[in-house]
Amino acid sequence: MSLDLVYLDHAATTPMRPEAVQAMLPFLTEVFANPSGSHRFARQARQCIDEARDVVADVIGCKPGEVIFTGCGTESDNSAITGIIRRRGGVAVCSAAEHHAVLNCVEHAGGRVVAVDSNGAIDLRALEAVLDAEVSSVSVMAVNNEIGTVTDLVAVSRLVRKLAPRAVLHTDAVQAVCWIDLRTLWPLVDTMALSAHKFGGPKGVGILIVREGITFEPTVLGGGQERDRRSGTHNVGGIVATAEALRLTDLARKDEVQRINVLRTALIAGISRIEGAQRTVSSEVSVPGIVHFCLQGIESESLLYLLDEAMVCASAASACASGAMEPSHVLAAMGISSELTAGALRLSMGHTTTHSDVTRAISAITDATDRIRSVQNRRSL
Ligand code: PLP
Repeated sequence: MSLDLVYLDHAATTPMRPEAVQAMLPFLTEVFANPSGSHRFARQARQCIDEARDVVADVIGCKPGEVIFTGCGTESDNSAITGIIRRRGGVAVCSAAEHHAVLNCVEHAGGRVVAVDSNGAIDLRALEAVLDAEVSSVSVMAVNNEIGTVTDLVAVSRLVRKLAPRAVLHTDAVQAVCWIDLRTLWPLVDTMALSAHKFGGPKGVGILIVREGITFEPTVLGGGQERDRRSGTHNVGGIVATAEALRLTDLARKDEVQRINVLRTALIAGISRIEGAQRTVSSEVSVPGIVHFCLQGIESESLLYLLDEAMVCASAASACASGAMEPSHVLAAMGISSELTAGALRLSMGHTTTHSDVTRAISAITDATDRIRSVQNRRSL
């Protein structure tokens, strides 16, 4: 990455780990065989996928046969929710703060969307009220991508097993990988979605874990790869790099949580000094890597523009594919006023973030808000 750039947008995507890049390179050159073939060259590629699957299974604490490689986190969520509804019928349920990869599937299926509390965590009473024998799919994210709130999946799982015993419980764990040991989450759910580019792997590789014995209607039909659960020629290099990134993320997690916690404390102290800065959720309920503020009287769009000029990459966490700002459905569901959400700022850290990044970001954000306010003051004279 350019030395000048302060990259605080790890929740959007992470830089690839150099070891993952190295692991991927041979598959872009000499090891190019299609792993579905029958010759020795194909078998070699197939073996690389099998080894990658074993690594993933080890990090999740699941069986290798429960690991399905997909094209992205969105596809993993779609397969888990739409695939279950198409196979079993019934009603889909999710929280109002889910990523659109989940929310759109549940809404498309005419499902039930459950309110969240002021931290953006699913409201357990509201969940209880919508669970019944009709419900066949429940999706609750492990960590929210905008504000970093961690879900109490133990409580969710207990409720779902008791009140909707035929439901498949899915968790979108895309934002959890860097911060939470996935072995603690997997026993609580039936399916889990991951995305490689959120933990130092390449873009275009997702993982869906499906508990043995659970079947779903595949969303991508064709050659029958991944034991008929996800067709399409494997992205061999991408899968190998993903496994390496996941292995390293798992190994480093404990130390990284501590290291990033220290940076988070410094970041929060610095931003809190800015007039009108309000922390959206506390450190007690959120992962260390995602820090979210609402800056009263500041437009996110103007702030991000000035930060971009200062070589600081940050986010309002609510941009759509076109890059245009959309109001955040997460902040709205938490009951935050539109006046405050207009000044949303997400700063997300990860494996490349340093103390100097944090110091430079604080100074750039302070300068930018000062500039915006001085223009506002001049206009109001
Ligand atoms: N779920 C969550 C919580 C995410 O943050 C994202 C990406 O922003 C996705 C799903 C989608 O993942 P992908 O970009 O791999 O499609």
